[in-house]
Amino acid sequence: MDIPGHIDPVPVPRPVTPRADGRTDILGLPKAQIADLFREAGLDAKQAKLRAKQVWHWIYHRGVSAFEDMTDIAKTMRPWLAERFVIARPEVVEAQHSSDGTRKWLLRTADNHDFEMVFIPDADRGTLCVSSQVGCTLNCRFCHTGTMRLVRNLTPGEIVGQVMLARDALGEWPKGRMDVGEVEDESEYRADGRLLTNIVMMGMGEPLYNFDNVRDALKIVMDAEGLALSRRRITLSTSGVVPMMDRCGREIGVNLAVSLHAVNKETRDEIVPLNRKYGIEDLLQACADYHGASNARRITFEYVMLKDKNDSDEDARELVRLIRKYDLPAKVNLIPFNPWDGSAYECSDPARIRAFSNIVFEAGISAPVRTPRGRDIDAACGQLKTAAERKSRAELDRLAEEKQAALG
Ligand code: SAH
Ligand code: SF4
Repeated sequence: MDIPGHIDPVPVPRPVTPRADGRTDILGLPKAQIADLFREAGLDAKQAKLRAKQVWHWIYHRGVSAFEDMTDIAKTMRPWLAERFVIARPEVVEAQHSSDGTRKWLLRTADNHDFEMVFIPDADRGTLCVSSQVGCTLNCRFCHTGTMRLVRNLTPGEIVGQVMLARDALGEWPKGRMDVGEVEDESEYRADGRLLTNIVMMGMGEPLYNFDNVRDALKIVMDAEGLALSRRRITLSTSGVVPMMDRCGREIGVNLAVSLHAVNKETRDEIVPLNRKYGIEDLLQACADYHGASNARRITFEYVMLKDKNDSDEDARELVRLIRKYDLPAKVNLIPFNPWDGSAYECSDPARIRAFSNIVFEAGISAPVRTPRGRDIDAACGQLKTAAERKSRAELDRLAEEKQAALG
């Protein structure tokens, strides 16, 4: 059978277009690099280091994006910085709020590429689903993002910027963004009591094909002086880029999720074409070798339930056999397929999903069925972008204004 989709993605996408105003965006850059930039712009080494430290604190602990608001920096220095540098957030093109609390944003880069971000609140946590690329080089056949071309990798700033935007929207900067000059209480930086507690790299794109930028962004998210989120609360999802998995464990150290979706070569070749390059056995071996995985930090296997494709009792038993064979500390996430216009598959019946889940569960492996969220707002991966492209420009402008007003 001739299966559509490339298996040899080009991991060198289009470069970022420099900003039209010539300023340098410092969001997402390591503190030392910001100091270097300040020095190159004319500050002496000591000043540059001190200013970088102050600016960094304002950006990540206070959520401030205007140099003018950085009140412990000399008044004359602030316009000097603003002329040369910028702390940019992705632009919000559209913000949607589902009746179940799920929120979804269509975001735009400074060089005009749209991508998505989703926030999913639960009783005990709030999970932000972050994108790593605009589009995707892989063509998983059930995934709407897979129908788009890869435009470019997101930069570290655009990845961290998503978390910053979510904090803006949820009002989660300590003591309000303009509250200045008081002694800070470190306890306010803990995730406790916050809406945004977890991050999953499960938005648009394949994070392991944008490894350096994803790593650099997550380093800032995890940095105690950055956004200070624990690595245990961050999960990276890959469709199975085997050669990068070891580096992911060692250099990023976050939880791993693997989009398995099928247990035999024929089916996985069809629905996750990357399988023709990195097969199931190699993928599971890389999982067994994943640095930091243990019974306390299990690897999540994502499995999208496709009717008559991958959902039989036999498939469930084979899944159990494979997990045992590689002795994997695993949990299985069963995802009801979210159909989109033109998709080639249907979602399995609820009874079939339950039967599948029971077989895995009875083998002692947790296999919850993920509740579909935000169905009223096209929350399936890649759908908002396409829906928005069908809307008129005027309507989008109106929605953006409404959103701006709602945020105050
Ligand atoms: N590229 C990475 C991360 C982004 S996709 C990866 O493939 O793992 C994250 C998840 O979105 C995938 O595991 C897939 O299960 C899910 N997904 C994509 N399209 C879907 C759809 N139409 N219905 C249900 N889940 C979908
Ligand atoms: Fe890309 Fe992941 Fe979608 Fe596959 S499932 S096309 S890897 S975003």
